[in-house]
Amino acid sequence: MSEGLIYKTFGGLPWTPKFVEAIDKTLCLGCGRCVKLCVRKCLGLEGFEDDEGTERHVAIITNQEQCIGCQACGSICIRHCYTFKEK
Ligand code: SF4
Ligand code: SF4
Repeated sequence: MSEGLIYKTFGGLPWTPKFVEAIDKTLCLGCGRCVKLCVRKCLGLEGFEDDEGTERHVAIITNQEQCIGCQACGSICIRHCYTFKEK
């Protein structure tokens, strides 16, 4: 079992990053707020056509390698689409 990475904040307090793991496409509205927020450019929007033929979007993880585990994407998502994982 992983013991998890532990870093320190600017003030010397313990900080354990939680890295982006998955986005629930069934909940995502495609608003793009999380995509804009991620300073590490880990996220993107993917287009698709729904059952009525309307073009829609969902957020996807495009660059997980660059994730620093800040969880900002999950914090801004009103639909609670995100799950995270410690390393
Ligand atoms: S903030 Fe949430 S609902 Fe909006 S695009 Fe991102 S995952 Fe989807
Ligand atoms: S946890 Fe932070 S770095 Fe990782 S995808 Fe979300 S906003 Fe980007």
